[in-house]
Amino acid sequence: MSQKVVIERVQVRGAAPYLGMSATPDGQQVPLYSTNPDIVMRWLCDGWRCRYNQLRSRRTRWDRNTQSAVPLGGKPDMRSDRQVRLECSWFAAIPAMVLQSPNRIENTDWWSANKRRKTLKKKHRNPGMTPRFKKRRDDLYFVCWHNKGANANYRQLNRRHGEVVITGQNPGAYRLDGQPCRYSIHIRVRVSQPVRDYTSVGVNWTRRTLVFVNDPLPIRRERTGAMVGLDRGCVHTLATSDNRFLDLPKQRLERIDREIRRRQKAQARRIAMSGETVKQYRRHASRTYERTGREISRLYAKAHRIIDDWQHKTTSMLVREYDLIVLEDLNLQDMSRKAKAKPDPDRPGAYLHNGQSAKRGLNHALRSAGLAGIVEKLEYKTRLTGQNRLILVNPAYTSQTCSKCGHCAKENRESQADFECRQCHARMNADLNAARNILDRGLDHLIGLDEAEHARTESDVPTAYSSRDASALTCGTSTR
Ligand SMILES: [Zn+2]
Repeated sequence: MSQKVVIERVQVRGAAPYLGMSATPDGQQVPLYSTNPDIVMRWLCDGWRCRYNQLRSRRTRWDRNTQSAVPLGGKPDMRSDRQVRLECSWFAAIPAMVLQSPNRIENTDWWSANKRRKTLKKKHRNPGMTPRFKKRRDDLYFVCWHNKGANANYRQLNRRHGEVVITGQNPGAYRLDGQPCRYSIHIRVRVSQPVRDYTSVGVNWTRRTLVFVNDPLPIRRERTGAMVGLDRGCVHTLATSDNRFLDLPKQRLERIDREIRRRQKAQARRIAMSGETVKQYRRHASRTYERTGREISRLYAKAHRIIDDWQHKTTSMLVREYDLIVLEDLNLQDMSRKAKAKPDPDRPGAYLHNGQSAKRGLNHALRSAGLAGIVEKLEYKTRLTGQNRLILVNPAYTSQTCSKCGHCAKENRESQADFECRQCHARMNADLNAARNILDRGLDHLIGLDEAEHARTESDVPTAYSSRDASALTCGTSTR
């Protein structure tokens, strides 16, 4: 959790930082100094990346041919922070709080990536490659520890602006006469909220953003006693049991989607014209092709930001308004899996229609709604307030059961949107009906838990609508 702010201006004050030795055309080594903010920030980012990669080079990967662990990049660099500062001139004046931070960050990056690969392997999915080095073409980035005021101190300048000051000093041998030895880099940022206590700052110089790494803000709320069931779907992202539809900004997302498609078509055309396979073409791809690729990834990132923002706003609203939130426990991974290939019994090597193209559309809609993200955010936000309760229930037949009389039949659901009960002839929107059923199941589950508590028989919990994992059901404390 963190606070992200925009960098407006950078100033270098005090001494000109010593950036390292540079070779002149006639082969002489001369020390390099600069007060140009862009050059100084790049120097910090490059230094940070260099140290990160030095630490990364100590990691190993499994070599299948020799059946042994080999270092990632040939020769591991085992030098300590102190040693590299003496031996590599470009590290000499980098602040200690910047030079030390890759130690921990590289470690967490490495182990979280490996854990992710392990869980993916368990699910029989492609684990991806072993994490490698930070590339030069990645975003320019560095981290500076705050360390209780040791460096990267923040100061509020006025209501909308503040300043982060990173200080350092030039090594004794490279101090210029008549100049102070210390330099300070003043990063002026625009803030919209008060900055909370932080442990470190991360600076992305490519995007001109700065992140304060800190704890999330506690959500203040009053008890409302309201309860809600939520049905997640493709047409309406969320339907609530009190007759509301909460939808993603579909039009904006669709416009981005169209832009992506257009660019993807342009790329495909280039490949088709060249008469090569994708792999062959990529080896000597044109600049336009590469640029289109970058535009596509930027558009994807934009769509992702829109969805993430909507999810944050919606889940915050839900957590503020309702004491009890009931969701269906969808197994999204199974739902969005590819349809199985159906071989044709008459023609060997050929396949029958298996509905993959129809399923692909659904997969796309599900993923774009990012349903897993809603559950994730609700889980941590209910934990933050400590008053809410989140329950996940088995969603089987919620869309076919009547929420009024409980009659369950396939014919009840007329189409995607309409629901009409065959028994009591109640008509309503299918999604809203499902949301009410989900709330009912959540309440049944709560009653079941209470009865179990009274009877004090732990082995015989009446779970009429038991979910897959009863222990994962509740987050936060009880509302009762
Ligand atoms: Zn009915």
